[in-house]
Amino acid sequence: MAEEQRYDLVIVGGGPAGLTAGLYAARAKLRALLLESLQVGGQLWNTEAIEDWPGTRHISGPELAGQMRAHAEAFGLAIEAKQVTEVGLSGPPADRDLKVVRTDDGDTYLAPAVIIATGGEAVKLGVPGEEELRGRGVSYCAICDGPFFRDEVLAVVGGGDSAFQEALFLTRYASKIFLIHRRNVFRAQPVLQEEARRHPKIELVTNTVVKEILGERKVTGVRTKRDVDSSTGTLEVGGVFIFIGFRPRSRLVAGHVQHDPECYIVTDSQMQTSIPGLYAIGDVRAQLARQVTTAAGDGTTAALAAARYLEARAQRSL
Ligand code: NAP
Repeated sequence: MAEEQRYDLVIVGGGPAGLTAGLYAARAKLRALLLESLQVGGQLWNTEAIEDWPGTRHISGPELAGQMRAHAEAFGLAIEAKQVTEVGLSGPPADRDLKVVRTDDGDTYLAPAVIIATGGEAVKLGVPGEEELRGRGVSYCAICDGPFFRDEVLAVVGGGDSAFQEALFLTRYASKIFLIHRRNVFRAQPVLQEEARRHPKIELVTNTVVKEILGERKVTGVRTKRDVDSSTGTLEVGGVFIFIGFRPRSRLVAGHVQHDPECYIVTDSQMQTSIPGLYAIGDVRAQLARQVTTAAGDGTTAALAAARYLEARAQRSL
């Protein structure tokens, strides 16, 4: 039977941002619930090696995800595996300022404070063959699919941190990797660029776009076009890994709150959106950096801000 439950704080999304918010909320003794429909840990599950989490020289994404979850739960955070379908801003008549979080199983959660930590998802290239060959050579996750491409020649598309990091990871399996980028300058951190340039299995293919992914039942190649002279060509590859960025999953609240043209949610320095008591953190928030460290920082700030918001609300009702 559908239930209605009350919490101080509901956190929607269980990546590093949501888990950190949950840890701080639990330590502040708030009655907090975290809802996550996919794997708790979010994008950490797609990250092989994390080398920029201060104090830890090297840890795998899944391992850090497990540690963050266990840490938050040890302090009393409740976590439920549910898909949130709606975040409403107006509670029942007696408690108008409560937010209303509904889940796909028909349950409803009421809370004065809600933190949106829903992250984002991979951008698609939008070329012929991409959708048709998804899961049959087209992938957006090197950790998940890399081991299926032992001794194959692969294409990695993109020029950011993800493309470089994932290309380096794929060198474990592939015999060769073409890293295809549409410009000749990269957004990726210099340290990753240097490592890729030095790697004997990686060839950088710049000023080049992928026009089509070829193959019948499985990827056999990519059709490319060079920007400089418009010449076209084909690279024979057994798989294409696409890392061309990211779109925020802000659909639940984008209609209610201020957001930028790309639908990243705009917040103040306390992570509060244009609606009091509604916060946004991590990759769904408009900001310069999208790192595990910044996600954790956002989560910390939002949980502490939510605790103050709840305190002020309690004072008002005395
Ligand atoms: P990103 O930094 O936005 O880079 C996207 C890349 O894809 C850019 O090089 C872009 O080219 C290219 N691109 C975009 N649309 C394209 C299209 N339609 N066709 C061809 N190429 C296209 O995205 P990201 O690498 O996924 O990273 C997202 C965020 O996560 C970043 O803030 C990044 O720093 C962070 N991250 C950090 C780490 C880490 O180890 N610290 C690891 C992964 C990700 P242009 O440059 O020409 O625009």
